[in-house]
Amino acid sequence: MAERSRSRVVIVGGGIAGPALGMFLRRLGFEVVLYERRPSEAVEEGLFLGVAPNGMNVLAELDLHRVVEQISVPCHGFQFQNARGDVIGTIDRQDDRVRFGAGLQMVRRGDLHRVLTDGARAAGVQVHFGRALSDLDRTDATSVVARFADGTDDRGDILIGCDGIRSTARQLTLRDAPEPAYSGLLDFGGITEGVNVPIPTGVNVMVFGRRAFFGAFKTPTGQVWWFHNSGAKQLDILGSEASARREHVLSLHRNDPAWIGDVIAATQQVLGPFPLNDIVFMPRWHDGRVCLIGDAAHATTPSAGQGASLALEDAMVLAQCLRDISVPEKAFAAFERARRSRVEAIVKQSRRNGSSKAASGPVQGWIRDRLLPFFLQLGAKWQERQYAYRVDWRQQYL
Ligand SMILES: Cc1cc2nc3c(=O)[nH]c(=O)nc-3n(C[C@H](O)[C@H](O)[C@H](O)COP(=O)(O)OP(=O)(O)OC[C@H]3O[C@@H](n4cnc5c(N)ncnc54)[C@H](O)[C@@H]3O)c2cc1C
Repeated sequence: MAERSRSRVVIVGGGIAGPALGMFLRRLGFEVVLYERRPSEAVEEGLFLGVAPNGMNVLAELDLHRVVEQISVPCHGFQFQNARGDVIGTIDRQDDRVRFGAGLQMVRRGDLHRVLTDGARAAGVQVHFGRALSDLDRTDATSVVARFADGTDDRGDILIGCDGIRSTARQLTLRDAPEPAYSGLLDFGGITEGVNVPIPTGVNVMVFGRRAFFGAFKTPTGQVWWFHNSGAKQLDILGSEASARREHVLSLHRNDPAWIGDVIAATQQVLGPFPLNDIVFMPRWHDGRVCLIGDAAHATTPSAGQGASLALEDAMVLAQCLRDISVPEKAFAAFERARRSRVEAIVKQSRRNGSSKAASGPVQGWIRDRLLPFFLQLGAKWQERQYAYRVDWRQQYL
């Protein structure tokens, strides 16, 4: 943007895309102010996620990869089991560092937020917690006014919505935007320790149970980070009491390998249900001086393990577009052109990955167990193409 040193960017959302974008924009000399709805950075939200090598390489561009490696656990591979506990396939990821410059890192969401927020502050981003966007005033053609639920407001030359799948910035800007769609899967999860679990350390173990899917990651300190996905009509379980969650999840794994029940039973706080939603196609990602990135533009289900990494890639590419193109609307259009096909392909693939998790009958299970090794090979190749994807800071968007 012209006169960058005086251009003021308002970022809404301090999850993953927001702080990363703030850091890239500060590098370019923009004035950046970030507003986050959570009341304070101390609030823990969500459980854990995997940052893929392509996302880690964006963090390396921000010089944050080492600190993220320190607070996370490397994942060396995937192991798939059937409902009897037989291993029906594996993917070895030990060479990822050599092949892709970084490995898949499993990290607690709150820890990642903290590193990104600290990094943004250190880079000169003004970060404000407890400020939820509630309205936008776009009557002036050269700026945007963000209004917050606490009655305050702020004006930016542009505003970037990084406020996630239920984006308020999207609702206020693209009034005909589609609502996120429910994938048919509900997610529960937890973190437990002190249970002796017969699974390898540092490997994502995925179990196709009789009635539900279970994922577990054992850390070197003996914690087990786990999630459960089951096919359900959303409204069946959404209203369930906290005390009923554990029983609900346990009941769906009653006939699966016993260690799964042990892990769930030992978990103090079973979190969920989180309905897994996505947005496969958003007709536009920007309008006037407002642009959306990350989940606000193209939310994906977690089944491809790419949502966070895509948000990081978006942040870098949008900053590059704003660096190279002085008219915001043109920069936003260039960003959308650069990103759309990649993210839509991943959102669709993630949906497909998720469809194999829903419970199937014994015959389908028998067929799946036999076909899985073949599909795993294809899946591993697809995963490697995503891992190898690199955003290059030197690339020009003119
Ligand atoms: C159960 C689950 C597991 C997942 N696992 C993985 C995984 O292993 N790997 C992976 O890559 N991805 C995973 N994902 C997806 C990943 O979490 C998202 O794609 C990623 O967080 C998107 O980043 P973001 O910054 O766009 O949005 P978010 O991380 O959602 O951040 C949005 C931020 O905006 C804030 N906000 C919302 N509304 C407002 C408002 N009105 N005003 C101000 N602030 C607001 C929110 O509080 C939040 O902090 C998972 C998702 C789920 C649901």
